[in-house]
Amino acid sequence: MSNKFLYYFSEGSEAFHGDMTTMKNTLGGKGAGLAEMTAAGMPVPQGFTITTDACTQYYKDGRQINADIEKDIFEHMKGLEKITGKTFGDISNPLLVSVRSGARQSMPGMMDTILNLGLNDESVEGLARKTNNARFAYDSYRRFVQMFADVVMGVSKSLFEEEIDKMKAEKGVKNDVDLTAEDLKQLVAVFKKIYEDNEHKPFPQDPKEQLIEAVKAVFRSWDNPRANVYRKMNEIPYEWGTAVNVQQMAFGNSGDNSGTGVAFTRNPATGEKALFGEYLINAQGEDVVAGVRTPSPISHLKDQMPQVYDQFVEIATRLENHFKDMQDMEFTIEDGHLFMLQTRNGKRTAAAALKVACDLVDEGMINEEEAVFRVEPKQLDALLHPQFDAEVLKKSKEIGHGLAASPGAACGKVVFSAEDAKEWATKGEKVILVRLETSPEDIEGMAVAQGILTVRGGMTSHAAVVARGMGTCCVSGCGEITVDYDKKQFTLAGKTVKEGDYISIDGSTGKVYDTAIPTVPASISGNFGRFMAWADKARKLQVYTNADTPRDAKQAREFGAEGIGLCRTEHMFFEGERIKAMREMIVAKTVEERKVALAKLLPYQQGDFEGLYEVMEGRPVIIRYLDPPLHEFLPTKEEDIKEIAGELKITVEELKNVISSLHEFNPMMGHRGCRLSVSYPEIAEMQTTAVINAAINVNKKHPEFKTEPNIMIPLVGEIKELKFVKDIVTSTADRIIKEAGVDLNYQVGTMIEIPRAALTAGDIAKEAEFFSFGTNDLTQMTFGFSRDDAGKFLDSYYENKIYESDPFAHLDQVGVGKLIKMAVADGRATRPDIHLGICGEHGGDPSSVEFCHFAGLNYVSCSPFRVPIARLAAAQAAIKEKRAKA
Ligand code: ADP
Ligand code: MG
Ligand code: MG
Repeated sequence: MSNKFLYYFSEGSEAFHGDMTTMKNTLGGKGAGLAEMTAAGMPVPQGFTITTDACTQYYKDGRQINADIEKDIFEHMKGLEKITGKTFGDISNPLLVSVRSGARQSMPGMMDTILNLGLNDESVEGLARKTNNARFAYDSYRRFVQMFADVVMGVSKSLFEEEIDKMKAEKGVKNDVDLTAEDLKQLVAVFKKIYEDNEHKPFPQDPKEQLIEAVKAVFRSWDNPRANVYRKMNEIPYEWGTAVNVQQMAFGNSGDNSGTGVAFTRNPATGEKALFGEYLINAQGEDVVAGVRTPSPISHLKDQMPQVYDQFVEIATRLENHFKDMQDMEFTIEDGHLFMLQTRNGKRTAAAALKVACDLVDEGMINEEEAVFRVEPKQLDALLHPQFDAEVLKKSKEIGHGLAASPGAACGKVVFSAEDAKEWATKGEKVILVRLETSPEDIEGMAVAQGILTVRGGMTSHAAVVARGMGTCCVSGCGEITVDYDKKQFTLAGKTVKEGDYISIDGSTGKVYDTAIPTVPASISGNFGRFMAWADKARKLQVYTNADTPRDAKQAREFGAEGIGLCRTEHMFFEGERIKAMREMIVAKTVEERKVALAKLLPYQQGDFEGLYEVMEGRPVIIRYLDPPLHEFLPTKEEDIKEIAGELKITVEELKNVISSLHEFNPMMGHRGCRLSVSYPEIAEMQTTAVINAAINVNKKHPEFKTEPNIMIPLVGEIKELKFVKDIVTSTADRIIKEAGVDLNYQVGTMIEIPRAALTAGDIAKEAEFFSFGTNDLTQMTFGFSRDDAGKFLDSYYENKIYESDPFAHLDQVGVGKLIKMAVADGRATRPDIHLGICGEHGGDPSSVEFCHFAGLNYVSCSPFRVPIARLAAAQAAIKEKRAKA
């Protein structure tokens, strides 16, 4: 880290050789943009940037600006006085500045900007005299008092806004511009009184104090709750810090020859290539976006101030050519002179991002590889799921929110059980399924619902995982809800919602609305295919999908999946007659009885696999053997136990005994995974029979597929354990293949999901022909907390900066990542051609996919709707690596 904590705008570009990345890291996005525009000779009010390192230093010094940096700030103010010919704190010709925050990435939720800093009771009069415009001087001062009070001291904005409204009513005027100098002077007095009443001290008159307090407020705002939430959502590290820009004011509020505006070089909603923006005459700062008056479209400026307009168009074009991307710009006009205040790569919708990326390639501005970076992987989601009608959404107010567990928007009538969901859906109703939490039995109800809302459970809860797999919108863990299943209603934010009432939920934001908001279907335009082809050309990782049904597999194929990385066979045992046979198997007292029950399951299982093989047309299908503890298949409620005992033709007593014998204190670490096959080899036998027979049948029908089964043994932690189960698999498989008289290759591999498996991966690879990192379990076993319970305490960990993000959503690259890297190295040492992949939820998370690329895996596997995201993330990782080597 350098000791240089401050840069004039005129220094930045040269100091960093115009390299935007390092410039942004140190000067923040806004500071970097101002430095580049200055270097390009554009009209920018001058100033200086206090670096992000100074912010880090502020926190290191115990939330203080140390004496050296403070001194440096005032020295730079002296420098700015020289540049501007005005004096900070002068009473006749005061230098006024704005103090603006600016992190590496633009971050809503950070501190708001303070304008007109440097004014006080004396200099406001000097400004009035000097400009011969008292109205302007007092308008600037009242704005400054209000912003300083709000931003630095946390005095509510509304207190001031009420006073403005009162004043307007008194004077019988509609707009703030109609208030006179005298009115504004009075407002200043009222505002200062509000400040004093709230702060118990007068409004600071010393400009130096104003400045230091404002800079501190920017640094402080890096750690405010809004910023922390945003950072966590967007994986922005806390240690980055924010920069502060101190800049001479340009006055858009000095009369009708002045104004302020914002504009994009292209349309941020559609991507269309045309200047897009708005401006307001005689206005300052955020008046345009705050809606104090209705702004005019930028095209009107052409008539109103033709020269300024032409100059702006010329600058906008140069900026776009310079940054080779759509720019989002702020400008101010002071007495007919244009000033540029900000430029950055504009935020845009997913559709616009695709169009801009394609257009920039067609215009010869960027190449295909660069284009791959112009869409954020996460953004692709929006293209694959329905969205709310934007107009209606704008007018809707949420009544609560949970976790944005599975993206998309949904609107429908509330039902409280999976059965009701099914029943209502058959009648043609659109429903939202509201549950405390979901369980495997709810699958069919979940499948027909427009959306799923749960009270409990995190991003990897059953509801979240299954919903993502189905591509169904889901908001999980909305803890504020109180559900009353008996009365069929829930309450949230004081509102009671009954069965049949309409609600809307947004799985991309987590918001819940008690009104019906219509949705518009997803639109995958032509640009999508073209763009994804560029990504596919670049990437090295293969992208598979987690799919248990032909329906999901088909969906995933449409999204570009190249195989199935995880087929969870237990999901196949919940429907209709299957669960019955499964339960017979569980309550069986002898091996013979168990085999009879398993024989009933065999045809179902085999049929399922045939369905998957058909859809995948010879691409890899990795089938994981039964994984959950058996008690998950048994009833818990008294009435269900009675009914099921009857079905099974055993007494209630007997069934209860079985249930209690299967009870475990910690099922996550209980009798599950390959341990089931060790105790009951006939389960593995049945599953192998199904896998092999299915492949033989499908290959008979479609010899061109050349299906080769991949059998995956879960929860292995010891090579002998794997060997034991593998022996059952191979002896069964080899016998069937021989009897059928066919040629069939198959592979047996394992999940690496227990730390011991990672630690002994070199041994395990002697038996395993492939590894699939099951990072859900591997994460919970490495951290030693369960993903279902962690939600309850992780918030305190985030608040205290112990963890910055949910390790179940973003792979912990330090700890879990180390286990993975080790297992990769040791596994390859034993078996050089071992096939390696990941099938945890992380397989669809962009930063985790990048990790997998650099760890040298062969593929990632994720739920169908995240396949395009993983493809893009994998491409970006590959290009990054290539560039780093170049
Ligand atoms: P944000 O990051 O929220 O956009 P900005 O720092 O860009 O905050 O500033 C908020 C508003 O104040 C913008 O409209 C900006 O153009 C305006 N502004 C900031 N600095 C100045 C300045 N020196 N002169 C005139 N207007 C300014
Ligand atoms: Mg702002
Ligand atoms: Mg701005």
